Amino acid sequence: MTDNNNGVLVVVEVEDNQPIDLGLEMLALARRLTDSMGGSVTAVAFGTGLETIGEILIAYGADRVLINDNQIFANFHAEAWLPDLAKIVAEVAPTIVLIGHSESGTDLAPRLAFRLDVDVATGCESIDILNGRPHMTRSCFGGLAREVVTFSKSPALATIRSKSQQSLTPTTERSGAVEKLSSILDVNSIRTRVVSREQEKAAGGVKMENAKIVIGGGVGLGGPEGFKTLNEIAELVDGAVGASRAACDLDWCPRSYQIGLSGRTVAPELYLAVGISGASHHMAGCGNSKTIVSINSDPKAEIFKSSRFGIVGNSQEIMPALAEEIRKLKA
Ligand SMILES: Cc1cc2nc3c(=O)[nH]c(=O)nc-3n(C[C@H](O)[C@H](O)[C@H](O)COP(=O)(O)OP(=O)(O)OC[C@H]3O[C@@H](n4cnc5c(N)ncnc54)[C@H](O)[C@@H]3O)c2cc1C
Repeated sequence: MTDNNNGVLVVVEVEDNQPIDLGLEMLALARRLTDSMGGSVTAVAFGTGLETIGEILIAYGADRVLINDNQIFANFHAEAWLPDLAKIVAEVAPTIVLIGHSESGTDLAPRLAFRLDVDVATGCESIDILNGRPHMTRSCFGGLAREVVTFSKSPALATIRSKSQQSLTPTTERSGAVEKLSSILDVNSIRTRVVSREQEKAAGGVKMENAKIVIGGGVGLGGPEGFKTLNEIAELVDGAVGASRAACDLDWCPRSYQIGLSGRTVAPELYLAVGISGASHHMAGCGNSKTIVSINSDPKAEIFKSSRFGIVGNSQEIMPALAEEIRKLKA
């Protein structure tokens, strides 16, 4: 790589004082990149109550952890994070900055790129070093093709899709440095104010990205009632409920359920697609699931091409019957 290669900076989001899985997955990618191009892996975490996060991030692959533990960072606020993050990037001078392709990350990354006057590739699935330069791969044309982008400016910023990487097995044998930072934020410089925050309760209490079973509902559910049955089944199997964009557009479920190119990415052990046609935009968010099982009344539905098992039938009859069978088995 370049002579002044300072490796990869990973921005790790924190929930309940713990790094989110996506942060750990990005550390694995950062390790792979530094193995290939040299340099070290620096992780940065903003939040409160971050006493143990340094050890965790080192165990998962960081060489150095920078912690900005401050009440003002208790909740994500892009404007509040930017001055500190821009300063950290300037000091660390990484070749690549990895940010999660999450609600927060997709808000933060373009702002950071603008502030640093560099480019950003959002929604990346992998990064490779070719001819000494990071090349980012991501979906395009509604998930039907992949494009590879590279930048001439440094650092290269990229947001990384959840479950596109596998986190490393943590080991306490790894060593690294943990440094606490003081914020340079002038709170008076923040022009927007968060008036309220609402945490949506995930069905079964499991976050969609972490669930082993995800049940996705589409227009074929026939209405919001269908989602009640999906939620019930998810509770019974400790799973989570997702949806197609069309179902979200119809207001049958919260927008946060949306899986796909412009929604969330899941890769569970089992993805049960109910009344979903299988448009490429949707499959971009669930195509890496280990097993896809789909229920659709149309035997020619596109979703069957990506499914290991397919059931041709009416979801409004099948899902209540499935819920009943699971209830019986659990009893
Ligand atoms: C830029 C862009 C981004 C997009 N991003 C996303 C995204 O992130 N996520 C996403 O999901 N979509 C996205 N879309 C929309 C996407 O192209 C599809 O329109 C959408 O996924 C279709 O949702 P659906 O499968 O629920 O509905 P439909 O395509 O209407 O399919 C409904 C399915 O239900 C079946 N069905 C009907 N009745 C029954 C029944 N009683 N029982 C069983 N099956 C039944 C039908 O046979 C059909 O296959 C995007 C589109 C664009 C242009």
